[in-house]
Amino acid sequence: MKRNEAKMIEQEYDAMNTKITFGIYGRSARQTIKRLKGEISRIEKKLSRFVNGSEIDRINQHSGRDPVKVSRETLQMLEFSKRLYEMTRGAFNILMGPLVDEWDYLHAEEKPDGLSIRNKMDLIDGDDLVLNPMEQSAWLRNPGQSIDLGAIGKGYAGDRCLEMLKQSGIESAVINLGGNVCVRGKKPDGTAWKVGIRHPRKENALIGYVESEDEHVVTSGDYERFFYDKEGIRRHHILNPVTGYPTESGLISVTVISENGMAADGLATSLFILGKKNGMRLLSLFPGTEAIMVDERLEVTVTKGIEKSFIRFDGITMNAI
Ligand code: AMP
Ligand code: MG
Repeated sequence: MKRNEAKMIEQEYDAMNTKITFGIYGRSARQTIKRLKGEISRIEKKLSRFVNGSEIDRINQHSGRDPVKVSRETLQMLEFSKRLYEMTRGAFNILMGPLVDEWDYLHAEEKPDGLSIRNKMDLIDGDDLVLNPMEQSAWLRNPGQSIDLGAIGKGYAGDRCLEMLKQSGIESAVINLGGNVCVRGKKPDGTAWKVGIRHPRKENALIGYVESEDEHVVTSGDYERFFYDKEGIRRHHILNPVTGYPTESGLISVTVISENGMAADGLATSLFILGKKNGMRLLSLFPGTEAIMVDERLEVTVTKGIEKSFIRFDGITMNAI
């Protein structure tokens, strides 16, 4: 069979608190999907704060007590997170665990009361994460503190998936980890993969798509995990560490495109919190990284480097900066 007649093998997988879909071409597709699932599950067991005994869980359990030895892999993620925390002046903050629990998106119908939010604010000082590269350890200074890697975990898993696809000799594939899309090569017919960008206010609609090759297309939006409170205000899952409430930066969806999945994921969350102006300033420190930002009026702003490969649909207004 010629390559461009090949069939795509598709599978779904529930992990990392989300739905993951694989679409893979090539003779070893099925075997590769098995390996990818194994790798995703390995990462989840190591990094999820909800898995008893994971490295992150152990750091959290030891908060206020002693440093915990971690793997190099975990340390690298924590170091990257800390860098982003510093670069965003605290907007991106992986110590948000206690506050995320307080907001409890899975079950909530009403916002937490002001006092319980204020109580949790003492626990989310990102400076309280102490990393010791020599000892290869991590420590949270105060009891009750907790690390939540929800804003970069899937991005890192995406990095590992793309590496594994390359190692397995897969030349054409697309993996969607709950909104983080990882693209390998081109489609077998030689055209680029098209990654749809969701319309933040219309179900099952797109604002357009981006043509993509060997990179990650990662979106943070206020439509992913949210509820409406009694006043009818949309309460989404990306929190402002200064206020303790869901961020209101003027942006309702941010897509970041990069060869580095973990950076793309961390930056998408950061830009969403920082808003357009400060977000662009941050993005300029990451060469080769592009963004698609949608504001409250549903106007789309794209970075110059992506202008040509982003195809917008009718009715969407766009400018490039
Ligand atoms: P994402 O979907 O990648 O933008 O990540 C959002 C997730 O990151 C949330 O569901 C929380 O688990 C966590 N999170 C919430 N607020 C922040 C914040 N300010 N900095 C870092 N992580 C956060
Ligand atoms: Mg993110």
